[in-house]
Amino acid sequence: MAGAAVRPPLPGRTVRVRAPGKINVSFRVGPRRPDGYHAVASLYLAVSLFEEVSATSVPGTDVTVSIATAAQHSPAVADIPLDDRNLAVRAARLMAEVSEHAGGVHLELTKRVPVAGGMGGGSADAAATLLACDELWNSGLSREELAHLAAELGADVPFALLGGAAVGLGVGDQLTPALAPNQLHWVLVQSDAGLSTPAVYAQLDRLREAAGTKPDEPRALDPDVLSALRAGDAKALARVLGNDLEPASIALAPQLAGVLADGAELGALASLVSGSGPTIALLAEGEDEAYALADAMDARGHQSLPVHGPVHGAKVIGDITR
Ligand code: ATP
Repeated sequence: MAGAAVRPPLPGRTVRVRAPGKINVSFRVGPRRPDGYHAVASLYLAVSLFEEVSATSVPGTDVTVSIATAAQHSPAVADIPLDDRNLAVRAARLMAEVSEHAGGVHLELTKRVPVAGGMGGGSADAAATLLACDELWNSGLSREELAHLAAELGADVPFALLGGAAVGLGVGDQLTPALAPNQLHWVLVQSDAGLSTPAVYAQLDRLREAAGTKPDEPRALDPDVLSALRAGDAKALARVLGNDLEPASIALAPQLAGVLADGAELGALASLVSGSGPTIALLAEGEDEAYALADAMDARGHQSLPVHGPVHGAKVIGDITR
């Protein structure tokens, strides 16, 4: 891969990168593979809820991480590991290894994507960190090389790097960009149900076993989903979107059924659990409808947020030296 840094990084230089959270507009889960992962076919959409990573060169060789205080509103933020289990730390260590960089870095994460919410927040942190360290250390890796590193870190990391809309095969990491010329408007409804992704997949396997519906072959995406996206037609998309994990998420967190019902009653064109949940994404006809729907959901005691997508993938938004 790339050689050593062309010039030594300046101490006190900070590179800021933001990377988006995602929803899986269509998520088809195939059989469990011998490696324990499931073969999936996913239509990813990057939405306007961004994680931010500030990477600062520090003396020494350590990789450290902290979480910006302003974002510590969610109790789940306190559970994020700040050691080598943190995906951003793993991303920085991987970049240091492949670019043969020996200096230290401090990563400050501003978390906006709900933690353990099924929206790939940790993956966005990892993607943002790869790009920030590449810039900070002048590693000069291509987007393709960064995408390879991203896939080593996790199934959703390559998409957080790419952004936009894309079909993901394999475990979701084999990406093909999809045409999505128009913005789609959504309302995200947070939940403190706390669902672990492996637990949701295990529940899906149990449900399928019990129903005798275990698939033998990987499942394909419905081509109508791609057509609706290409046409920017929210109503057509509402008829075909769906998530195979949804029954499993609801079985583990039954309160999600009430959120889905409220969304339908208050005018959402469609609703779905995002990824493994528990965040729920409600599709609205347009921006005004999304704001009205968010207000109506909040009036019922939900915590909701209007967003839109597609938006860009990981992008440098600042580079300063103190
Ligand atoms: P998954 O990618 O497992 O589907 P998710 O999108 O539902 O996850 P994340 O916010 O990415 O949710 O967090 C999943 C778990 O990963 C958390 O419970 C946390 O302990 C761990 N984790 C590791 N690094 C991070 C990070 N930088 N930000 C958030 N969580 C992290």
